[in-house]
Amino acid sequence: MRLPVNSPYQITTPYGWVKDYPLHRDPNDPIIPASERAKYPGAGYGFHTGIDYVPADGKTIATHSGSLSTGNDAINGNYSIVNDSKFRTYIAHQSIFSVRSGTVEEGQQLGVMGETGAAKGAHVHHSLRVDGALVNPALYVNNESEEIMPTEQDVKYVFQVVTGSAPTAQNIAFYTARPWSRLNSWAMTKLAQNYEAQLAAGTTKDSVIKYLSEHLT
Ligand SMILES: [Zn+2]
Repeated sequence: MRLPVNSPYQITTPYGWVKDYPLHRDPNDPIIPASERAKYPGAGYGFHTGIDYVPADGKTIATHSGSLSTGNDAINGNYSIVNDSKFRTYIAHQSIFSVRSGTVEEGQQLGVMGETGAAKGAHVHHSLRVDGALVNPALYVNNESEEIMPTEQDVKYVFQVVTGSAPTAQNIAFYTARPWSRLNSWAMTKLAQNYEAQLAAGTTKDSVIKYLSEHLT
């Protein structure tokens, strides 16, 4: 499965519990995966059901092939759903559709990023269900078309910033063999999980996004 956007891009909101996220949900909300409900960090956190991207070219891309349906509602704006026998990708807030129905192939353009629905600022929201269950898309996206690979120094820097400690040799081997998008998604997920601790340590999400985005161009 590939990313729902082309590079370069920024991730503006990760999957999972996000401080001051506008869509606050009860931790018992069934839309939140059971594995995530127990991790509720406390008051003021909302559960973000996908990953938000801002791609430079503004295009939304089919992450996998399948049957396409499109629609519009007050929350998600112009949304596209691509279904196959296992994966169900959901793309929200588009300004226009490139295609409205039928079969789409992985990598095909679905539309153009926008701020329709309840979006604040133009971005691409991507949610993913696997066998019906909501999951973190970062665990499934393996963007083979992304050619930018992190160096060992990049991996060391990002681990130090995000976790406060050095990566293991295994971590370095894993991430230097995979595109930046994988390290980027990992870092954003990690930051969301440890938001308060990161703030106490002086790390801000913006500082990491800035570093990551500078290395994606
Ligand atoms: Zn979103």
